[in-house]
Amino acid sequence: MSNDELPVKFKPYTRQTISQAPQWQQLPPKLREAVQVVSRVLPFRTNQYVMNELIDWTDIPNDPIYRLTFPHEDMLPPSEYAQLRNLVLEEKDEAAIEKMVRAIRMRMNPHPAGQMTHNVPFLDGQPVSGLQHKYKETVLFFPSSGQTCHAYCTFCFRWPQFVGMDDLKFDARESNELVAYLKQHPEVTDVLITGGDPLIMNTRSLAGYIEPLLAPDLSHIQNIRIGTKSVSYWPQRFVTDKDSDDLMRLFEKVVAAGKNLAIMGHYNHPAELRPAIAQRAVKRIVSSGATLRMQAPLIRHINEDPKGWAELWTTGVRLGAIPYYMFVERDTGPSHYFQLPLAKAYEIFQAAYQTVSGLARTVRGPSMSAFPGKVVIDGIVDIRGEKVFALQFLQARNPNWVRRPFYAKFDPAATWLHDLKPAFGERKFFFEEESMTNISVVRHAGHALSSASTEPAYAIASNA
Ligand SMILES: *Cc1c(COP(=O)(O)O)cnc(C)c1O
Ligand code: SF4
Repeated sequence: MSNDELPVKFKPYTRQTISQAPQWQQLPPKLREAVQVVSRVLPFRTNQYVMNELIDWTDIPNDPIYRLTFPHEDMLPPSEYAQLRNLVLEEKDEAAIEKMVRAIRMRMNPHPAGQMTHNVPFLDGQPVSGLQHKYKETVLFFPSSGQTCHAYCTFCFRWPQFVGMDDLKFDARESNELVAYLKQHPEVTDVLITGGDPLIMNTRSLAGYIEPLLAPDLSHIQNIRIGTKSVSYWPQRFVTDKDSDDLMRLFEKVVAAGKNLAIMGHYNHPAELRPAIAQRAVKRIVSSGATLRMQAPLIRHINEDPKGWAELWTTGVRLGAIPYYMFVERDTGPSHYFQLPLAKAYEIFQAAYQTVSGLARTVRGPSMSAFPGKVVIDGIVDIRGEKVFALQFLQARNPNWVRRPFYAKFDPAATWLHDLKPAFGERKFFFEEESMTNISVVRHAGHALSSASTEPAYAIASNA
């Protein structure tokens, strides 16, 4: 056993405890202050492994993993930062702080892409709160005990659930409802267990959610996916934790039951895959018979360098992982700080893609998870004298929309689908013609949605 395979205990740091970390005293006061102030609004959690092994402290604050896990002053507009700083550090008025924090959070678009109202499925006429069913073949499951992470990413669109905006929280008390729902939906082939990070759970709890999916009457479930950032923030989960071997046995059990177990690993930066323990984690996952896919959003200040993406994908492929998606950062939270124009995202993707072997070109992107579906930017081209974005759906609420090329006027400043206008003088995108009436029905009806029987959410936008 090499040194880094000796068991280490997981040690998280939060706003309340970060001052105990050895690196804290070396942080310049201005950066410490930013952590104290901004972490009132956005969740802050890091851990000892991330601080000791992934962050280069000689390159603060520009180090990408520092930017990935530590809040910055620039994440709030200057006037807001100044006002909140004053409340937190000078006046120390908790009631006023709370009021301001709430106002800032509401301004930050806490639930993008219609997740809360449009994707919640129904079972016997009742909404099932821990599930999302947006695309026909895949159900997302949010186990209640997997709603935190080994560290928080500063850009994460799931921040509302980490700061306890309770009315916005997904929650699933049991897997019973999941199983009951899946029994009624033979069109579902994939269950994606997500969070938070489901691998924050111990193996026994995780098994409680996964094993029921292996039952013979759920034979239509072919793929069980687990979305996780543990591969980066706590690779010990797969190697040296006291139930790591049990976790591998659980993975093997899923595979032996004839299912594909797909670990959807979130990797933002090649630094996350450089430590020996992180590489061991990949090897162990793959040798259990599970597959490991790599996906991440493209984030300004964190992973803008095409060489970094190429290193990440190539290292992953060498270890046995499969590059999958590069996402465009969503329009929530401090998105003004993290967002890149779509044109720039396309350039970065293309530059990285051009340098890697075909084995790494399984990756697709840059892709926006928008209301109608996942839209990928295929290119920037001149057609009939007009400069346009060439786009298509990789996933859509209506399966007929998938892989149908469409075009938007080129706009160098656009950062999201809603900024784009149809090209060639058309008034609407093809998917708007079909869905607008339905979207407005859903919007007006509000709770009519909940009387809409057991129809899955994805059907609503497509049954014109
Ligand atoms: C991305 C995504 C999925 C899975 O899509 P694949 O393209 O099959 O990986 C499922 N549900 C939602 C809501 C998603 O955003
Ligand atoms: S690990 Fe995933 S869910 Fe957790 S904060 Fe990061 S992006 Fe969000």
